[in-house]
Amino acid sequence: MFYINKISLIYILILIIILILIHLYFFKTTETFRSAFVDTSQIEETRSTSSPRIFENPENYILDKYELIDILINDYDNYYTTFNETDLKVRNVNSIEEYKYKIKNSPVTISDEEKNIIINTIYKIKKIFNNYDNIGFTGKKANIMNIYIGIIDGTNYEEGFPHTRENKFIIIPKYLINKHNLITVLIHEMVHIYQKVYPEDIQFYLDTYNFKKYSYRNNAKLGASKELLIKAELSGETETTVGSIDLRSMWDESKFLKNSDSFPQERGIEKLCFSIHGTTGGRSLTECSELRANPDIDNYIYSNSNNELLYCTYNDNATSIMNVTYYPINNEANEHPFEMMAYSIESNIQNELLSNSY
Ligand SMILES: [Zn+2]
Repeated sequence: MFYINKISLIYILILIIILILIHLYFFKTTETFRSAFVDTSQIEETRSTSSPRIFENPENYILDKYELIDILINDYDNYYTTFNETDLKVRNVNSIEEYKYKIKNSPVTISDEEKNIIINTIYKIKKIFNNYDNIGFTGKKANIMNIYIGIIDGTNYEEGFPHTRENKFIIIPKYLINKHNLITVLIHEMVHIYQKVYPEDIQFYLDTYNFKKYSYRNNAKLGASKELLIKAELSGETETTVGSIDLRSMWDESKFLKNSDSFPQERGIEKLCFSIHGTTGGRSLTECSELRANPDIDNYIYSNSNNELLYCTYNDNATSIMNVTYYPINNEANEHPFEMMAYSIESNIQNELLSNSY
């Protein structure tokens, strides 16, 4: 009897241990499950606005608003320093500091449901990229890039337009998450990240299509370029009234500026000044169109295979980032070869998606 009881006791003990283990297992799972859906905004509120540059979980590529604030305010890629007067004016600010103040509330943290939409879309893109190559672009190489998505709300920061920062951040507006074109926008921006991560591939794209560096877009050379343009024009004129001269037509027709010895090989042109008015004596530059800043392109103006320059300048009295004209054809892809490549891959994949290739 006692012997049997002893055996039973051992069984009971084993059973209790098993029950405890089962309980612990489920308790732990429940906790994990719960924490995935818990509102973390309370925790986030206590975090510093200057979050460290090391992201806590590289697998989670959706930035929370504090991570994005850090990126936008600290301007690690010096994007804001490429702003000219008109870039600031269309943003309704007078200085970079004022802009940083204006944009500080633009980043937002999104819900888990919204995160899942983005994550699923990225997953879909990666599946497409796995079997997609183009000139200067290898889908499999795109898939191993480190990318992070930051979400903004409202129009204070870059008027809410999607773009990239540094070589890994894609910034998109919150409203886009539920739009059908989320996938094409993300593909477009991933191409821009690719361009920043794999410069040798982009050089191959540029060489293939015969895009050549024509000049810097550098702020620091702004003053010099104005002088050079005036001098170039003066040297070709007698002391008479010249009225208005369209320097753009000179580029196109006589290649006057391109061939002039007075221009160093690497020219610094921030503003493209199209017309000058007055006489040689009291001549002044009256019309200057400024190039629009763009974080997705490099610091050069390129010419295409027809020797035409590709660029985007603000229209007179521009009040928006989009009040611009593109050259040589007024189409947004013409802003820069990097844009041409991104738009081309985006529409290429879109067409293949429509024809159900994927
Ligand atoms: Zn673009």
